[in-house]
Amino acid sequence: MSDSPSVKRVMGIFAHPDDPEFFSGATFARWAAEGAEISFVLATSGDKGSADSEMTSERLVQIREQEECNAAAVLGVKEVIFLRYPDGELQPNLALRRDIVRLLRMKQPDVVVTCDPTVFWSQSRSINHPDHRAIGEAVLDAVYPTARDRLNFPELERDEGLDVHKVKQVYLSGTNTITKVVDVTNYVSTKINALREHKSQIADMDGMAQRVAERMLDEQSPEDAPRFIERFHVINLA
Ligand SMILES: [Zn+2]
Repeated sequence: MSDSPSVKRVMGIFAHPDDPEFFSGATFARWAAEGAEISFVLATSGDKGSADSEMTSERLVQIREQEECNAAAVLGVKEVIFLRYPDGELQPNLALRRDIVRLLRMKQPDVVVTCDPTVFWSQSRSINHPDHRAIGEAVLDAVYPTARDRLNFPELERDEGLDVHKVKQVYLSGTNTITKVVDVTNYVSTKINALREHKSQIADMDGMAQRVAERMLDEQSPEDAPRFIERFHVINLA
């Protein structure tokens, strides 16, 4: 349950702009501060995420991609890649798996962070978004065995010269089966500042800041010296 030693190359693969920040933004901020090279991959650009009757999906894509790039910059993440699948309709199909395999082989990350695809609900409070389950499943399928074995999607090697890749660890966030916590006490405000960039999504910024901090509080830490954590289920493949 302790912290990982040093994490070098990381890829966070999520469904929507704002997911990397909400799910594990403080961990990304910590790893970036410790020198990790981090890229984000967003399967959709969140084109359904508006209740504004004047908003169109096309405009929303532009707004949300910019917000995600701004949020990533706050965390110290330099690269954001958008796959532009339709929001709300994500499926763990072969097309998505292939797109993820291509990026894994291109960027060769040691650590991949995504959503726990087994989570349908969290306690009695909320239903997990189907896109979050879909991306988690597609990422696991891409990591093992597809990115690793050269006869899967052989055209990626033949046409694009991409070598196979073995990911060492997968961090699943939003999990109900926690096996690891990362101490992010020094990165709570960085995560909240990154979330503040998602202006189109968050109406009550102060309420968000309070809820996010509450959720990250380690309940076992002393009241006068609170510790803040992000929780994961980690799969070690190395
Ligand atoms: Zn989401």
